[in-house]
This record gives sequence, C-alpha cells and structure tokens, in this order.
Amino acid sequence: MNHVGIGYDVHRLVEGRKLLLGGVDLRHHKGLEGHSDADVLLHAICDAIFGALGEGDIGQLFPNTDPRWHNAPSKIFLHEAARLVNLRGGRIVNIDSTVIAEQPMLAPHLHAMKSNISHILELHPSRLSIKATTNEGLGFLGRDEGIAALAVVSLELPQ
Ligand code: MG
Repeated sequence: MNHVGIGYDVHRLVEGRKLLLGGVDLRHHKGLEGHSDADVLLHAICDAIFGALGEGDIGQLFPNTDPRWHNAPSKIFLHEAARLVNLRGGRIVNIDSTVIAEQPMLAPHLHAMKSNISHILELHPSRLSIKATTNEGLGFLGRDEGIAALAVVSLELPQ
C-alpha cells in the first residue's frame, strides 16, 4: 500500500550559529537557531516520513525540552525515521523536497546534501529530490530572517 506524508519546518537565522542544511555545513555568516542543530531540511524530511507512518511528528518523538537533543545532529532523527520504516516492513519509494532561502546560494551544495541524506536513509539518490528556491524578497523568508523547507515522502507499507 502507498502512504504519503508531508513535512514543513522553519528556523530563524541568527549570528553565531553554524548553518547546517541536509547535514552539510554551508559556512555562512549566520546559522539556524534551534534546540538541535536546526537542520530544516532534515527536519522536514523526518516529519514527512513520520507523517506517512502516522507516527506523529518530530517534536513529539524528540521534544525540544529534552536535554538529550540539545545541539544534537539531526541525522539522529533521520536514522530513527528510517528505523521506523524498516520496523514496519516498509520502504521509501521517493522523496521530494524544497528549501526556501534567500541566502546563501544552495545550488553548489545540493549534491552533497543529496549524498548525505541518501546515505543515511540507504536510498538510491535517484529516489531523492532536493530543490532550492528563494522567496523573491517577500515576507520573513525574503527578508532573510529564516530558512524553511518542505518535503513530501511516498512509502510502500505492507498495510
Ligand atoms: Mg525543526
């Protein structure tokens, strides 16, 4: 049976934090604020997987009040999502995602992000799409106050 899940995440851009997207350190002058490493792309993909499984969301599974996840690398969350898919006897059919950021230019880093994520999920890179866009200067994303990500996941589950 095919199950579909959607994920959305946004974090605020601040001085003095690393900018991690898709597990890649972009070496930008600002980074995303959050309890964990605030990797919006990994968080959106996790939420899409948890959604397709009907397993709640990343905030329920990894509460930001839990000191264990303070500055935690978000690949931990993605590993857990992959583990839950395997536990249910399922497999990921494909993932499509979009990162919305005014800066920095993401295109040069998409390959590295894709390679990281497909490695963590043991997913062939042809089944994973990562796209990047700006918000055309509109709203809080357009003012470079934060970065957002959207993801859709299709899973094949025994039932
Ligand atoms: Mg998040």
